[in-house]
Amino acid sequence: MTKIHNLGFPRIGAKRELKFALESYWNGESSRDELKALGKQLRRRHWQAQSGLDWVPVGDFAFYDQVLDMSFTLGNLPERVQGFHGDALDNYFRVARGRSAQSAPETAPCCSGVAAGEMTKWFDTNYHYIVPEFTAATEFKLDAARLLEQLAEAKAQGVAAKPVIIGPVTYLWLGKAKDDSHKLELLPKLLPIYVELLETLAAAGVEWVQIDEPILVTELDAVWQDAFNTAYHHLRACRVKLLLATYFGQLAENRSLAANMPVAGLHVDAVNGRSDVLLLLGMLPEHMTLSLGVINGRNIWKTDLNAVLDWLEPVARQLGERLWLAPSCSLLHVPVDLDSERKLDAEIKSWLAFARQKLAELRLLGIALNQGRAAVKAELDANRAAIETRRVSVRVNNSAVKAALAGITPQMAQRKSPYAQRAVKQAALLNLPKFPTTTIGSFPQTAEIRLARSQFKSGKLDEAGYKAIMRAEIARCVREQEVLGLDVLVHGEAERNDMVEYFGEQLAGYAFSQSGWVQSYGSRCVKPPILFGDISRPRPMTVEWIGYAQSLTGKPMKGMLTGPVTILNWSFVRDDQPRSVTCKQLALAIREEVLDLEGAGIGVIQIDEAALREGLPLRRSQWQAYLDWAVESFRITTGGVADETQIHTHMCYSEFNDIIAAIADMDADAITIETSRSDMELLDAFEHFNYPNGIGPGVYDIHSPNIPSERHIVALMHKAAERIPAERLWVNPDCGLKTRQWPEVIPALTQMVAAAKTLRATLG
Ligand code: GLN
Ligand code: ZN
Repeated sequence: MTKIHNLGFPRIGAKRELKFALESYWNGESSRDELKALGKQLRRRHWQAQSGLDWVPVGDFAFYDQVLDMSFTLGNLPERVQGFHGDALDNYFRVARGRSAQSAPETAPCCSGVAAGEMTKWFDTNYHYIVPEFTAATEFKLDAARLLEQLAEAKAQGVAAKPVIIGPVTYLWLGKAKDDSHKLELLPKLLPIYVELLETLAAAGVEWVQIDEPILVTELDAVWQDAFNTAYHHLRACRVKLLLATYFGQLAENRSLAANMPVAGLHVDAVNGRSDVLLLLGMLPEHMTLSLGVINGRNIWKTDLNAVLDWLEPVARQLGERLWLAPSCSLLHVPVDLDSERKLDAEIKSWLAFARQKLAELRLLGIALNQGRAAVKAELDANRAAIETRRVSVRVNNSAVKAALAGITPQMAQRKSPYAQRAVKQAALLNLPKFPTTTIGSFPQTAEIRLARSQFKSGKLDEAGYKAIMRAEIARCVREQEVLGLDVLVHGEAERNDMVEYFGEQLAGYAFSQSGWVQSYGSRCVKPPILFGDISRPRPMTVEWIGYAQSLTGKPMKGMLTGPVTILNWSFVRDDQPRSVTCKQLALAIREEVLDLEGAGIGVIQIDEAALREGLPLRRSQWQAYLDWAVESFRITTGGVADETQIHTHMCYSEFNDIIAAIADMDADAITIETSRSDMELLDAFEHFNYPNGIGPGVYDIHSPNIPSERHIVALMHKAAERIPAERLWVNPDCGLKTRQWPEVIPALTQMVAAAKTLRATLG
């Protein structure tokens, strides 16, 4: 009998119940007991949703983050919160958010003196975890209370519980040494705690423990490979059976390392790593269970169940009892329930599967393998029909788009002249001072703007009324910027809810869910739009707003677009063609918009690529291939404009060391980046690499309510000028201003403009 199981379930709730409960608790509007009760209720409901599985994950629920939970289980709390004697949950939130509950609001200067734990991306997903902190002196101490409590709840509910923990090697890998020690030196101290934890679970009657080691899909050097051997030989005597879980890609060169771990079972991502599976079959020890992640836990498409069975049946015959089936990874990365979608187009809906539907697919596969396909014939036929309608749908396939893609020439990705020549022509036309000032695009999104947008969406406000409000807002933005004396103006983005959704809504090939929320971090969720078909742009998307803004001023107005790579990386995208193809389709659509803006007399156009870096593959060996098509896509958007048109791009980070050549290759006339908090240190990349074009290192930290002083900005720019010639420097904030308030923005930008004047006088 093939067993079916799950690796993790989305914890936020189909209606984002956890988000609202957390925020109400943090605001002091509800009690700790109410929050805990809600957590319990969600766990109960989510286990119910997983009924019929042979093993159900327990411990995948977290109030904030599963890595932070693991840190608490291992007693690895940052030193700064160790003296806290209050409630354990409050201490947990202090690490997560930098303060306890019932303290100052988000905008307060600081947080009862406790800095929040650093947050970073969970592998190549859009989920962010709290980075464990280590020093050579770190000591661990088991606290299994949370896990045992959830285990007891699961048992009381009759759930076939399989506790989920993060493995010791991945746990160390995820963390950060705060001194110059090597994290792996902690392994000998850490392993006894894992032994104790596993023994505690065994004593609680646990049979299998899922121990997640996703770093096995990344490139590991000899030291880290060795750590796996050390760790798992140390744990082999434990009385529980370990299912070593890897996901988010292929094992590739780590295949034999994984296959030779002394564990009872191994889970692999069979969506991205089917070739791994066939090779693994030949090398697995005879006793080892192989769990295959055959349903994509990262995307929202229905699985082609018949195709999966075609390759799975021979594997099942070979493995017999030793075969388990699961989603490729935890379902944390997909929305909860497609059935909550009331407005989604019925045909598109028939192509989709969210977490609950993916588990239904898993059950079907289990029955088909154990009882034969005939036992679920009707379901398999329905699945085949859905897959087939999607494949041939005219809404997915647009021959004109395919032809345009085939017609992309190298010249289309090439500006007419090199930067140096363009710069001269642009200078003559734009007539900007040295150290020109600009902003990144958005201005504060006030309550009135949000209200107008939502009333327009729900039909309470007609188009004329909506446009009038937006125009008034644009006019206000332009007026304020003129008074401030900024050099290149923006329209302020009042009409945009979100920098990707705004464009998705206007492109053909996109659909939107109502409740397709996915946790990003803590209580924050995102609702990625669904890119289902060939992408085209039926009509201009921004020209009317930008044109209006330009009509109000004699200064250059910057057109504002989101780039193809960012649109791609922040959407659920097609699984029926390579990401590179989808990206180039997006690029062609944005290119049309760029040309229309230029045609409307807009001389400066910014194309944001906020998510370019985060799209980097997990394996470095695959970086270049990604960067090649990502950069080419960007260049396609800009390659059609005249030399005189100045192209800007923006990225919300400045870890450029490893991708700086690719950034330069994008050949934007100016790039604005985030640097203010790091004191320009992050510009180090530009010291070793002679970045050839214009650059605006952010001088105003828009994440903070603090107003930077003129002196501080001047000092930052002096540091920048040590690395980049002054004539190529721009003065601007780190990122868009939409989360700030006008009363903060005005004085901050006043200081920024004053600083630019000082710079012109001293460095100019
Ligand atoms: N133009 C966008 C803004 O100003 C850029 C946002 C971003 O980079 N995330 O809001
Ligand atoms: Zn940004």
